[in-house]
Amino acid sequence: MAALDSCIRNYINGEMVQPPADARLLDNIEPATGQVYGKLVDSTDGDLEAAVAAAEAAQPNWRALDLEERARHLERIAALIEKNLDSLAEAESRDNGKPVALARSVDIPRAAANFRFFARAITQFASESHAMGERAINYTLRAPLGIVGCISPWNLPLYLFTWKIAPALAAGNCVIAKPSEVTPKTAALLAEICRDAGLPAGVLNILHGRGSGIGSALVAHPKIKAISFTGGTATGAQIAAAAAPRFKKLSLELGGKNPTLVFADCDWEKALDGVLRAAFSNQGQICLCGSRIYVEASIYTDFQAALLGRVRQLRVGDPLTEVDQGALVSAAHMDKVLKAIALAQEEGGQILCGGERLQMDGRCRDGYFVAPTLIEGLPIDCETNQQEIFGPVATIQPFADEEEALRLANGTGYGLATSIWSQNLSRCHRLAGQLDFGIVWINCWMQRDLRTPFGGMKDSGVGREGGWEALRFFTEAKNVCVDY
Ligand code: NAD
Repeated sequence: MAALDSCIRNYINGEMVQPPADARLLDNIEPATGQVYGKLVDSTDGDLEAAVAAAEAAQPNWRALDLEERARHLERIAALIEKNLDSLAEAESRDNGKPVALARSVDIPRAAANFRFFARAITQFASESHAMGERAINYTLRAPLGIVGCISPWNLPLYLFTWKIAPALAAGNCVIAKPSEVTPKTAALLAEICRDAGLPAGVLNILHGRGSGIGSALVAHPKIKAISFTGGTATGAQIAAAAAPRFKKLSLELGGKNPTLVFADCDWEKALDGVLRAAFSNQGQICLCGSRIYVEASIYTDFQAALLGRVRQLRVGDPLTEVDQGALVSAAHMDKVLKAIALAQEEGGQILCGGERLQMDGRCRDGYFVAPTLIEGLPIDCETNQQEIFGPVATIQPFADEEEALRLANGTGYGLATSIWSQNLSRCHRLAGQLDFGIVWINCWMQRDLRTPFGGMKDSGVGREGGWEALRFFTEAKNVCVDY
């Protein structure tokens, strides 16, 4: 009974719902210690029906609300996230295993920025009109879709959860959102924030639980008009298969196997910093991480040695302390990463550093730590260079010229993000046009402007998030033609 009282609960119709006595609970594990530190409810179809009913009831008033007033609701949520920065950052770090400094400087500020950005964007969102000479005029109305579903992964929990919820709400939809069951904590805290901010009941509902359970029920529900999903490519395929016959709008942000191209004329220090950050930030668990590093042959030996020196200096340890790398998110994920490293060796890769689980002392002795790993000597067509590992593991290889760099970069099924490090801007622009990726960074990595289209091509997804793209996704366009 105590577990039921203290577990992470659903947020439905403006309330944290006490689970019934027979509710199924899931363990919430702290990755840095490997210990269960809480429970969360595994939602049922009944919870989904209650959330849909609440959202349906809230929809008419929410969509009719004056835009400025809707925006003020989002601003209030942003302000409360900022006010609770430290506690949210600590909760994110415990739940996910990421360094608390990263959560404090990136994850939580970005969650607030998501709400603030879309609060402002919606007041500037305009629709088009097309005059047909002096005969007629067309104008486009953009109405909210109704009830939409937002499903997010565990790697940037609050950051990605709010990246979907904020534009959906701003556009006038009511939302049923499901965070990853692996990292539910900050979503639960967001529910409290929304309640305290006075968001009307039913406008946002948060359901916890397994993807194969409540996640797929959410996708299948006939009253949910659109699904915005971020997660793995295999899950994205399942969601697409379930949603397509129901003609739902779909936005899929999926996996990546992102190349980093380093040319001999790069700014050496800037490139070293950038390549290191791109490969290992958040323990390599960012969809945008540059896990295939290609270096021009003339500087390969020196660059590889310098990078190796930096990787070896990364401090791995208790994420609640001052470290560069924390724990991987779960035992299952750590095993997957360790298996991928073993496979890389079978495929003929040489481990330049790392390659193993790290044993910590004290409270983290059972935590899921993996040493930052750099692997050399693998061809493009091996599994290691084709499949996403999503951990602190990168491969490094030389390339002869621009043509080979391009061939290697484009040589996987994924197309999310890439970065180019070179001071020859003509070359950078030329390559940007030829690289098959939704995002190309030149002499930077993960520099984000929330107005820009965000997403991938090929197996990395369908659709774009951010700016007007997100507001268009969460609205239905209706053309009105008026004859003069
Ligand atoms: P995942 O696909 O296992 O789960 C993502 C979410 O989907 C979770 O909330 C999960 O419960 C839910 N889910 C699982 N099966 C479902 C189903 N059948 N129906 C509905 N929902 C279901 O992904 P993950 O392991 O949490 O996250 C890691 C993956 O996410 C990596 O592949 C990474 O590249 C990707 N990712 C992509 C982006 C991007 O913007 N492209 C950003 C972050 C992470």
